[in-house]
Parts: sequence; C-alpha cells; structure tokens
Amino acid sequence: MAELPPLREVIAKHGLSASKALGQNFLFDAQLLDRIAAIPGDLEGRAVLEIGPGPGGLTRALLKAGARVTAIEMDRRCLPALAELAETYPGQLNVVEGDALKIDHAELMGEPFAVIANLPYNVGTALFTRWLGGEDWPPQWTSLTLMFQQEVAQRIVAKPGTSAYGRLAVLAQWRGQASLAMKVHRSAFTPPPKVMSAVVHVTPSELPEGVSARMLERLTEAAFGQRRKMLRQSLKGVPGAVDALETLGIDPQRRAETLSVEEYIDLARTLSL
Ligand code: SAM
Repeated sequence: MAELPPLREVIAKHGLSASKALGQNFLFDAQLLDRIAAIPGDLEGRAVLEIGPGPGGLTRALLKAGARVTAIEMDRRCLPALAELAETYPGQLNVVEGDALKIDHAELMGEPFAVIANLPYNVGTALFTRWLGGEDWPPQWTSLTLMFQQEVAQRIVAKPGTSAYGRLAVLAQWRGQASLAMKVHRSAFTPPPKVMSAVVHVTPSELPEGVSARMLERLTEAAFGQRRKMLRQSLKGVPGAVDALETLGIDPQRRAETLSVEEYIDLARTLSL
C-alpha cells in the first residue's frame, strides 16, 4: 500500500483552510485517531458511516482498521483529498457529497452500520436526536461513536438529580446504553476550539414494550421545559399525565430532574395505553 502523506501536507496541497462556518476543527494525531476508531470494537469488514470526514484523518484510521467506509462530506474542497484516500484503499471508501442532515442514512447504507463522526456541535446534536428518535426501532445503526463538546457529552450520560440531566439524557438512555468513551483536549484540534471535547459511544437498547416515542418526547419536553416547577404544574399540558403520576405512586411535587429514565418510561407507557 502506498505511503500516505502527512495530513498537514494534504491540507496545504488542497488549500483546506479550516472553515468556521462549517465547524471545521481537524484532528491530525494518528494515535488519537486510531484510539477513536477502536471504540466501536473490531471494524474489520464492517460497514461504517462517517459524517464529515474533512481531510480524512479519522477516515484513515477507519480504513486502516479494515472498515468499509461511506463518508458524507459537505465541503467540496475536501473531495480531492478523499479521492486520493479512496485510491489507496481500493473498494473500501465511498464518498458522498452532501448535507448529512438531508440524507436518509439507512437507505444510503442498505445494511447494518456503525456511525463514527467528529462533527460540529449543532449538526452533531441534530443528528443524534434524529438517530435516537422516532417510532422505528431497532435502528439500522449498531452503534454511534460521536465527538461532542464535553459539556454536551456530559448531558448525554448524565444521571438523575444532576443539573446536566435533561431531555438529551433521557432520550439517549431510554433508547440506548450511553457512555463517555474518551475525553479529548482542545489542543488536539487544528484550530483548537474554545472548549474541551469528548467522544460518546451509544449502542441501541431493546425497546420497552408499549411505549410511544412521541409520548415520551412530549413528556420530557413538558417536564424539562419548566424544570424548576413541580411535575403537577409542568405536566399540566399533557392530558392525563398528572393522574398518571398518582397511579404510578410518583409524588407530583417532585421536579423533572429527579425522575429516573425508568420512571419516564413508566409514565409514557401509562399514557400510551
Ligand atoms: N473528521 C475530520 C477530523 O476529525 O479531522 C473533520 C472534522 S470537522 C470537526 C467537521 C467536518 O464535518 C468538516 O469537514 C465539515 O465540512 C463537515 N460537515 C459540517 N456540516 C456537515 C453536514 N451537515 N454534513 C456533512 N458534513 C458536514
């Protein structure tokens, strides 16, 4: 296999100055990238969806690990660099130009796949809620390995009774097993962002019976929308919810952040019936 040039050379050759608008903060450290690629386990022969490959640092690590990568990139400037990578790993890399928010990932992949991405914050959270939401379950993805701002990563894995616990935690934890896999120092990125980052790893859980995703979302939206209020107040707008608290023996004077994920599931189940 041909030796690949250092990523900094690739960037200089293709004029890939980091675009702020596209949230571009690149990773160059091959060891760090190998560690991120190892989080979902052995990738040999597995289908991987990478969002936002940029100049291809993480993509290199995935290809080296033997993955069959489909990569969606919005920035056309990155395509020639990615084409060179595809030549080095024949048949292993398919690059799709476009906005990952507008593409149907299951249709694009056509088989079970692992998702790996180092994305800008707003795009990452939008995709995350989409991957975990909806009534269709189990999903076609087998795991999500995603770089977030550390503060967002902490909100995803947060436990009840903490200020970080909210809608994102309930969503991630009723639909999956979510863990904080690795913290990444801001200095690892070029240019360095203002805040620290962390990689979150999620695998899908089995769907609890009789629970509508829409109902659960409605409940957490109402409860955490007024998180300082008691549930008997914040859940007033959801028909039957205050009565359901009583049926389940949940004190209506409690506040949103004190309810466990299981209690939200029970509440949604009671109201879904
Ligand atoms: N994966 C590379 C790395 O780790 O060095 C680049 C990471 S950079 C933080 C984010 C990448 O996502 C950029 O290449 C950017 O162009 C791309 N991107 C941003 N929004 C996107 C979107 N909606 N769809 C696809 N790619 C997007």
